[in-house]
Amino acid sequence: MNFVYTGMLVIMTACIGNAAQAQAKTQLQAQSQTQTQSQPQTQSGHTNPWAPTDLGPLPPIASLTNGVWLKGELHLHSRHSKESSNNPIAKVIAFCKAVGIDYICITDHDNHVDGDVAHNTWADPEFRSDSVLLLYGAEWTTTRGHGNVFSASPYDHQRLYDVRDQRDIVIGAVKKELGVHLSANHPSGKDHFGYSYDIVNSIEVWNSAIWSKNANAIMIWDDMLSSGRKLTGRGGSDAHHGAPETPAQTTKNSYQAKANYIGTPTTWVFATTRTSQAVIDALTNGRVSVSSNPYAPRVEFYADLDQDGKMDMMMGDNAKATGKAVRFRVQLTGNTVPGTSYKVSIVKNGDPYDTLQTDAAGKIPTVEFTDTPATIGRTYYRVTVEGPSTPYPQVPGSAALSGNMVGLSNPIYFNFDPNF
Ligand SMILES: [Zn+2]
Ligand SMILES: [Zn+2]
Repeated sequence: MNFVYTGMLVIMTACIGNAAQAQAKTQLQAQSQTQTQSQPQTQSGHTNPWAPTDLGPLPPIASLTNGVWLKGELHLHSRHSKESSNNPIAKVIAFCKAVGIDYICITDHDNHVDGDVAHNTWADPEFRSDSVLLLYGAEWTTTRGHGNVFSASPYDHQRLYDVRDQRDIVIGAVKKELGVHLSANHPSGKDHFGYSYDIVNSIEVWNSAIWSKNANAIMIWDDMLSSGRKLTGRGGSDAHHGAPETPAQTTKNSYQAKANYIGTPTTWVFATTRTSQAVIDALTNGRVSVSSNPYAPRVEFYADLDQDGKMDMMMGDNAKATGKAVRFRVQLTGNTVPGTSYKVSIVKNGDPYDTLQTDAAGKIPTVEFTDTPATIGRTYYRVTVEGPSTPYPQVPGSAALSGNMVGLSNPIYFNFDPNF
C-alpha cells in the first residue's frame, strides 16, 4: 500500500502548487497513519535527535600481537618544578633504568618558568637517554586546573601556556595545531581539571600510590565514557621529591620519595614499536592498563567477537556490536603470586556488572565471561583487579598505600562514534 501512496505523491507534486502540495502531503500522512494504527509505533512522527543510530562501518582493529608492551610514568616533577626537592633529571633517568621503566614524561609545572619549558626541562643537559624513551611535555598549570601534555618531539608549549585563560574552543584549536596529546590531571579535588573534556585525549584515573583517593576520578571517567567519549584512563605518580643523597639534603617532604615515586602507579601501553610516537599513539587509542608499580602484574583485557577461541580485540578497541554473544578474557601477566586467587571486578557502562575470582591453581590468572552488547547504542566494559600487593623495594612504602589494588584496564568499546 505504501508504494501506491508514494507513487501518488510523486504525481501530485508534479502538477500542483506548494500550498496544495503541503495539504496533500498531510492528507497522505494521515491516511498512512490510519493504515498502520494497529502497529505499536509512534503516532506523532517525532524523531528524537539524540536517539542512537547506526554508525556505519568502523575502522578495522589493529593487530593484537604486532607490538610491544612498554611501561612508563606519565606524571613526574623534576628540579625544574620549584616545589620539588632532590630530583634532578639524571637521577630520574637512572632510577627509570634501575626499575625497568621504558618511557617517561617529565611534567614540570609550566607556570614556574612562564611557559618556557623548552629552555628549562627540555634544555637541561641531563635530559637525554640512550635507553629510556623521553617524551616531551609539561604540566599545564592554570587557574582552571592542571593537564599534562605529551609529545614525541619538541613543540611550542609557550603557545599553550599563553592561551590558558582563553575559551575552550580557542585552546582546543591551538592544541590541535600543535598536534599534542592533552590529558586531564587529578580530575577531582584541588586543582581539578576545569576545562571541557572535548579538548583532552586521556584522563588521570590513578594519581599517586594512594589508590583510595581516586574514587571520584574514576566516577568522572565513567561519566565521560557514558557520554560517548572514547577517553583513555592513565596513571601518574605526580611525585615531586627524590630521596636525598646526604642527610643534609633532607627536606620536610623527603619522606614521600619512599612512598610515592616513579612508577606508583605504572602505565602500560601496547605500542606498535619501541618509539615515543608509538607510546603516544597507544595512549591515544587506549591500549593501556595501569598497575600499582613497575613490578606488579599487568592487566590485559581481550574480547573474542565470534567465539572461535581466538581473541579479536583488546582494551581501547572499538567494534560494532553484531547481536551475537562476545567472550571476554581478563588475564594477569608478570609477577603474579602462585596459589592466589585475584578478584576481577567488571564494570559495564559505568555500573558494576560482575565480580569473578581467578582460579588459584591456574598458571596464568585468568577469568572469562560472556555478554551480548546491544546492537543499537553504546556499550563499554572495563575491569579492575585486586589481590596481593607486589613489593617495590625502591619505594617500600608504596605497597601499603595502594593496598590490594593490582591494576585496571581501559575499556573495550562497542558502537562508539569515532567522530565524537
Ligand atoms: Zn597538578
Ligand atoms: Zn603534578
